[in-house]
Amino acid sequence: MNLLFAASECSPYAKTGGLGDVLAALPATLRQRGHSVSCVLPLYRGLLEKLPNAELTPLELSIPLGGATVSGRIWKARAENGLPLFLVQQNEFFDRDSLYGLPLDFPDNAGRFLFFSKAVVELARHLSPLPQVIHCNDWQTGIIPALVKAQGLPFKTVYSIHNLAFQGSFPAADFGLTNLPGEYFSAPGVEYYGTLNLMKAGIVLADQVTTVSPRYAEEIQTESVGCGLDGVLRAHKGKLTGILNGVDTALWDPENDPALRAPFSAESLKGKAACKDALLAEFGLEPGEGAPVFGAISRLTGQKGFDLMESIVEGLLSQGARFILLGSGEARYESFFRTLAARYPQQVGARIGFDEALSHRIIAGTDFFLMPSLFEPCGLTQLYSLRYGTIPVVHETGGLANSVQDYRPETGEGTGFTFTPYSAQAFTGACRRALVLYEDKAALQNVRRQGMAQRFTWDESAAAYEAIYARLLA
Ligand code: ADP
Repeated sequence: MNLLFAASECSPYAKTGGLGDVLAALPATLRQRGHSVSCVLPLYRGLLEKLPNAELTPLELSIPLGGATVSGRIWKARAENGLPLFLVQQNEFFDRDSLYGLPLDFPDNAGRFLFFSKAVVELARHLSPLPQVIHCNDWQTGIIPALVKAQGLPFKTVYSIHNLAFQGSFPAADFGLTNLPGEYFSAPGVEYYGTLNLMKAGIVLADQVTTVSPRYAEEIQTESVGCGLDGVLRAHKGKLTGILNGVDTALWDPENDPALRAPFSAESLKGKAACKDALLAEFGLEPGEGAPVFGAISRLTGQKGFDLMESIVEGLLSQGARFILLGSGEARYESFFRTLAARYPQQVGARIGFDEALSHRIIAGTDFFLMPSLFEPCGLTQLYSLRYGTIPVVHETGGLANSVQDYRPETGEGTGFTFTPYSAQAFTGACRRALVLYEDKAALQNVRRQGMAQRFTWDESAAAYEAIYARLLA
């Protein structure tokens, strides 16, 4: 099959979260499985330095954006993993210091990503052979199926929802920037209560819709997780599938991870203890064989359950636990964790920022990984934790519910601790059970090994996507 992925992120070149990880792995896995796959993303600042093999293509873009015409160029490069990448250059839009604007979104994000989406369609029309499927991801590329339909182009479209909470919702006036016929701005089209909603556009107009776990596919059809689009999703549930993300084992393998002090495996966990000691030392925390270490790596937002984390963390510290956090996001959480680390210098380490290598050291060096997300489309860090013998403690939602099996002391089965409902009390209960397990070293090693034996492979996920493309092309 001939596939073109369109996205605003692709690790290690452009990443703010899980979307970047998926784009680093899924297209490459499909390519290994024999398909012809390429990926197109915006040419952000600094990308050409990371891709010295990039070459300018002859294609000159001249794209209508409302009443204006915006020019652009396309570069072609090869990613480290061999994947062909196309980069859409429009320096006024993409040569900036962040992808979407921080802390506030760039005011012209509608224009930036409508331009990008139009450039993707233009590129697709000029590729030879033509792609059979354009696989779009999240709101930044949500308009592509509408553009394909309006222009009567021969591409099938798949739209993947990585997080329904970010919808690309813009004032009605921005609809003009799509240059679509007026009838598209309607209830069966891209309009949502008088606004332009690019997430809705993707859901309604793509030939197939996917999201990143089976449980989230169900949950987004309910009012509590549907972020206002549950009705739209119910109306289109016949074309909606949930496929769990995988672990990119080229990057996340405790036996072969350059970020770690020592390698380890399920058979030989000695290296994990060395990673724990090194991590405690790195943060200047009191060592102690007896002390369990809890970790968290996350965007610091309400979605990730930080209100619960705030309520329970001092309880954990009072039981002698250590806590290490890496993250950035909302100022109130950043300041909470900075203050906590200052108050408990022997027990709490907090690094505010984004640090890929440190994220590996934390996943390897902690005993338990906290992920009390209010909702979680898939979640990747709990998958990485399982692989690194770090036991996840998670709210039973979305991909967390699909990937972590609650530990039962009676049977010895399970890979982590899950809790429901979403409350500080239930979260505390799960952490208490984790502390009890920590005291029983044989059971602890058993649960670690059960987690490490889980296989969340991209190969399996890619096969499920293949089935969707095949259905579309049949
Ligand atoms: P989301 O996409 O909602 O942010 P996921 O769990 O799907 O959450 O993916 C998050 C990805 O981003 C993981 O690869 C995680 O390790 C990484 N990540 C999140 N915050 C940081 C950080 N501060 N430093 C390094 N990596 C981070």
